[in-house]
Amino acid sequence: MATILLAGGAGYIGSHTAVELLNAGYDVVAADNFSNSSPESIRRVEEITGKPVKLYEADIRDNAKLAQIFRENSIDAVIHFAGLKAVGESVAKPLKYYRNNIDTTLSLLETMQEAGVRNIIFSSSATVYGEENPVPYLETMQRGVCTNPYGWTKAMMEQIFEDAAKADPMLSVILLRYFNPIGAHPSGRIGEDPLGIPNNLMPYVTQVAVGKREFLTIFGNDYPTKDGTCMRDYIHVVDLAKGHVKAVAYVLGHSGTEVFNLGTGTPYSVNDIVNTFERVNGVKVAHVYGDRRAGDLPEFYANADKAAALLDWKTEKTLEDMCRDAWNWQKQNPDGYRNPD
Ligand code: NAD
Ligand code: UDP
Repeated sequence: MATILLAGGAGYIGSHTAVELLNAGYDVVAADNFSNSSPESIRRVEEITGKPVKLYEADIRDNAKLAQIFRENSIDAVIHFAGLKAVGESVAKPLKYYRNNIDTTLSLLETMQEAGVRNIIFSSSATVYGEENPVPYLETMQRGVCTNPYGWTKAMMEQIFEDAAKADPMLSVILLRYFNPIGAHPSGRIGEDPLGIPNNLMPYVTQVAVGKREFLTIFGNDYPTKDGTCMRDYIHVVDLAKGHVKAVAYVLGHSGTEVFNLGTGTPYSVNDIVNTFERVNGVKVAHVYGDRRAGDLPEFYANADKAAALLDWKTEKTLEDMCRDAWNWQKQNPDGYRNPD
């Protein structure tokens, strides 16, 4: 079976993908500088699956280290998760975001070329559709005008991959545009572990429910949506991880660039999230309505038909599953990976 290198593999989506790849019979090598994660997540991936992961502490911008990883392992495909992802921080520190995110991509592509590794899957985002495109988003739409530097790094990296694949007919690239991943592995052993105050909705909700934060501020209730709060296409992280397993099979037998949305196709509002979380978990999530957050779009969601047709992938989990599994992870790990048992 093929060996897959997960760059940024100790993170939230990388660790869940590692579980699904191992369960599908792939060998997994992970490399991470732990700037937003902990080696503990990979230890738990091994515990869940009963299989080993070869883990490197490595900065993905370090070409010499990457060359060593490619020398020491026979890598068939790379999944590139490594990147900084906090939208607000990217507005305050744009150079940090451009330097980290673009350089990781260039280093991977350069060292892959030297090592003769031809297949790469990239963690892109629905944010590249920008403000102009109508919903639901379709892969054939042009990338739009992004609302923040984080989004621009994704749009620029997509362009870099497309250009690299045009210049090298042997290169096979898959750009996966994630919608809003939430939830956790049903075991409660791995999950999302944000440092400091969470930026994203679900980790904020779980921290309010567990008593770490007093209340959730819902950013705006005067949007032109069914209940006035923003609507997003939330996807269970295990469904998303399984999408990567399908993408690996596809990238190995392909050349050129292919783009896939990974979403459910069904949007839910912020109120839906809070209400469902309270209902399925039997806990209260104290909340107030505040001002809109700059840059938020009222609603976006995927047309997920292409992934269904070409990757034979469809989401299976419900919003209830997402809320239950997010709470199960938070309850079992109130401090994330910081106080491991
Ligand atoms: P994460 O922060 O949990 O994982 C990213 C990992 O990359 C972390 O383990 C971090 O330590 C590592 N990393 C960052 N820079 C690195 C570097 N220079 N060298 C080595 N490792 C480095 O985030 P995630 O939620 O798992 O996201 C994974 C990818 O998916 C990111 O590229 C992110 O932008 C993208 N994405 C995430 C979401 C989301 O909502 N979570 C949505 C769309 C796209
Ligand atoms: N949101 C909110 N309060 C928070 C965090 C997020 O009301 O503390 C809303 C946000 O306005 C958006 C939705 O939740 O409508 C999802 O936000 P998130 O940051 O998780 O993802 P985004 O869609 O912005 O990438």
